[in-house]
Amino acid sequence: MHYEEIVKIYSQLEKTTKRLEKVDIISEFLKKTSKDNLSKVINLLQGKVYADWEELKLGMSERLILKVINQSTGMPSGRIEALWKKKGNLGKVAEELIKTKHQRTLTSTKLTLDKVYENLRKLSSLEGEGTVGRKVSLVSELLSNSNPEEARHIVNTVIGDLRVGVAAGIIRDSIAKAFDRDAKEIEDNYNLSVDYGKVAELCKEGNLNLNLIPGKPIKLMLAIKVNNIEEAFKALGEKVQCEYKLDGCRLQCHFDLKEIKLFTRRMENVTKQFPEVVKCLKENVKGKNYILDSEAAGINKEGRYIPFQNISQRIKRKYDIEKMAKDFPVELNVFDVVYHNDKSLMNEPLIKRRELLEKIINEKKGNIILTKKLITDDKNKVKKFYDEALKAGTEGLMIKNLQSGFKPGRYVDGWVKLKPTLEPLDLVITGATWGEGKRSSWLSSFIVSCKKDDNYLEIGRVGSGVKEKSEGVKFSYLTKELKKLTIKSSGKKVEVKPKIIVQVSYEEIQKSPSYSSGYALRFPRINILREDKGLSDVDTLERIKKIYRNQRGQK
Ligand code: AMP
Repeated sequence: MHYEEIVKIYSQLEKTTKRLEKVDIISEFLKKTSKDNLSKVINLLQGKVYADWEELKLGMSERLILKVINQSTGMPSGRIEALWKKKGNLGKVAEELIKTKHQRTLTSTKLTLDKVYENLRKLSSLEGEGTVGRKVSLVSELLSNSNPEEARHIVNTVIGDLRVGVAAGIIRDSIAKAFDRDAKEIEDNYNLSVDYGKVAELCKEGNLNLNLIPGKPIKLMLAIKVNNIEEAFKALGEKVQCEYKLDGCRLQCHFDLKEIKLFTRRMENVTKQFPEVVKCLKENVKGKNYILDSEAAGINKEGRYIPFQNISQRIKRKYDIEKMAKDFPVELNVFDVVYHNDKSLMNEPLIKRRELLEKIINEKKGNIILTKKLITDDKNKVKKFYDEALKAGTEGLMIKNLQSGFKPGRYVDGWVKLKPTLEPLDLVITGATWGEGKRSSWLSSFIVSCKKDDNYLEIGRVGSGVKEKSEGVKFSYLTKELKKLTIKSSGKKVEVKPKIIVQVSYEEIQKSPSYSSGYALRFPRINILREDKGLSDVDTLERIKKIYRNQRGQK
């Protein structure tokens, strides 16, 4: 198959915003696609070259793409940058420059689907010395042989900005339509494989019947947020199971007769990073094979839970693993069993799964335990349990429907989470950074500060919440106002006089050496401008310290 054929579909998809029309276009195409090409086509239509479970990244920045365009078109970098600023999208820049180049030469051979897929996939596997140069060559080779439209899509795929509007739901419905299946059936099979390409291949073979297999990562069950205990009961029914909600790293633990494998919620294999967990599972879980769902929570010497931040470094760690395990020990808190002794338990009710869990795990405080639980229909008891959970240093509670099956990958009302909501802060902007690409004419990320006496201390960098066009605080407005307040600029960074106050919400306050306040906000977001407030109203470091202390009930 030529890549051109995919590009034809991209342009049909670009012409419509209607979901049903997109489904028609894709399903017709899938019907005609051979089994061997189905995965590639399905992934490319979503702007990627791997299945979702692989969680790979192409790892090329927009800056590097500038180099690619330079290498494959011979155009000087300055011209490319100017055009980028004008067009706001590097794909369009490549398209235009290849057009000009083609008026000069017409030597290229037709790109095949396999060639594009292979070169792009290689991008994510390259490691070590010379990687950057090899990446640039791989993409340049494609651009040198592509027509203008192909070049645009290749570049936008690499930078993760393919603009044809194909969300996962559209792919699901298209597969269902192409192979005359029920959308729910397609989704259920996706949840087991986390791979729409694979599901489509099985449909083509007429053999859509996936099974849970220990050793192969699955999507995990997710929880909806509730604001209070009443809401939890409303969502779940009269009698519920409450569990401590640990703030650690979600681990799915697989054992397939021979080997234990650990995967994160995103299906990354982290077996090597947690050797002590592997050992502990070997020694303390009964069964010839299994899949357990758990949270590895960091604990300190006194056995108290510590915030996730401290153990998060273990996930990506490739060296000094034993030392990390010693410095940042985890306690595995198991809360579910999805598969045991050759049997899937996905459709069994939680209460049954938990009963089994209690039989197969030999608990050892500090190593492996079952999450602390309370089964009750009494709201006051839940409140008491919630307070205890916060005092123990957890994030709050997970509250679960006793009858619900294990529903991977979806926010269904089987599980809800309850954690204290933190009040937003009023902070003042003291610095900003100019954006890249289409945001290059705006200041696009903002340093926010709190107050200590008459000084302003930085507590984070935030861009979320600020809008390009829609209602709300706009980049254009902040840029215009902050330009007037600029004290100093160096490179893309500017320092500004404290004046503009914004209300910032966040998930958590963490200690951090990166900012002068000594604290940082996790997932900060600008909600609104506080034009009604003056500098004397900016939140103080004292208040931040207090929220920090209280957020886990550590009064
Ligand atoms: P959140 O990340 O706030 O959406 O909360 C959901 C996450 O809480 C899950 O993905 C788990 O990593 C974690 N978690 C902690 N304790 C539990 C528990 N007892 N049951 C289920 N998930 C838990």
